[in-house]
Amino acid sequence: MSGREALMPTYQRLPVAFVRGSGAYLWDESGRRYLDALSGVAVCSLGHAHPALAAAIAEQASTLLHTSNIYRISLQEELGARLTRLAGMEKAFFCNSGAEANEAAIKLARLHGHARGIGEPQIIVMQNSFHGRTMATLSATGNAKMQQGFEPLLQGFLRVPYGDLDAIAALADVRRDIAAVLVEPIQGEGGVNIAPAGYLAGIRALCDRHDWLLMLDEVQTGMCRTGRWFACRHDGVTPDVMALAKALGNGMPIGASLAAGKAATLLSPGKHGSTFGGNPLACRAALTVIEVMDRERLDERAGATGEQLLARLREELRGIPAVREVRGRGLMIGIEMDRPCAELVEQSLAAGLLINVTAGNVVRLLPPLIYGAAEIESLVTTLASVIARHPA
Ligand SMILES: *Cc1c(COP(=O)(O)O)cnc(C)c1O
Repeated sequence: MSGREALMPTYQRLPVAFVRGSGAYLWDESGRRYLDALSGVAVCSLGHAHPALAAAIAEQASTLLHTSNIYRISLQEELGARLTRLAGMEKAFFCNSGAEANEAAIKLARLHGHARGIGEPQIIVMQNSFHGRTMATLSATGNAKMQQGFEPLLQGFLRVPYGDLDAIAALADVRRDIAAVLVEPIQGEGGVNIAPAGYLAGIRALCDRHDWLLMLDEVQTGMCRTGRWFACRHDGVTPDVMALAKALGNGMPIGASLAAGKAATLLSPGKHGSTFGGNPLACRAALTVIEVMDRERLDERAGATGEQLLARLREELRGIPAVREVRGRGLMIGIEMDRPCAELVEQSLAAGLLINVTAGNVVRLLPPLIYGAAEIESLVTTLASVIARHPA
């Protein structure tokens, strides 16, 4: 049995394995170099093998990896303070992934509903959303294919179309059992869908009027990806609960649920927990990630680089009939094609470029936030030539 056969086939893996990385580049077993325009799906925002992060992790690993949440953990306290201040939130719960961060949010929504005297509190979620693969987050996810075979799903979710504020207002008119809204500021897996202006602010107003929690899934959009520290900043909105993961650790597994206002007082000892969550190693990594992002102004840099990249992509892809739209915010960019285009991933790989296709027909670009002019040009010209060859 080969090594590959020992793994449950949960992923359709590309025929390449990387052995090292540096900045925006990865090298495979044969020594070939690839330009990374995916960052391990929005994780390695600082690029690969960042020296300050590597040094911090190595030092922490030889000092203290793990104790337990039954003791105080000063690095966790430090990270909680730093992150809540950055996000305009009050309290943090640390876990190990995006799904777990949303799982905590869902539990907070239910506590909030019960505190309001609702027997079976409902959470409004969106079509085409993605919140994770655990049973609760899978149930919240708006993708029937991912859910298929895992029934019975969790109860307590009401689904409306993404970007449709009226649909949420209509639910408010007819239901008294709603406790929260869970929404991505920009849908990632769903196809890089950007909500219309005023959408998040409108949901914020509805949540305030009806005493619902606004819970933002910023797992993909957070940590400077869209040109702001958090995507909700574009809309001037602060949520009651914010889920983070992916780039928070730049590859060290860590997730966080941040809470403010009444959402910050819902949990008490024994109500939630995690063995690994917020251990010294993960927190040291996340603190270093924040330090580097802050020092290098990666929020502004992602915004500026994203604008250049978007403009160059639109220029190069103009006139290719199969390209329906090029859209994005910061370094979260989608190129919507008029037909399924999964094969572009392997064609790009063959050309030395790592991209992703999501929702069947959307090329998704999530480059490291440290791209320079050379990387922008290389990405644009390689991708444009691959897309131009795509059969009409
Ligand atoms: C990736 C992602 C998740 C799930 O994160 P995991 O770490 O894979 O559990 C949840 N929500 C969004 C928006 C994501 O992009």
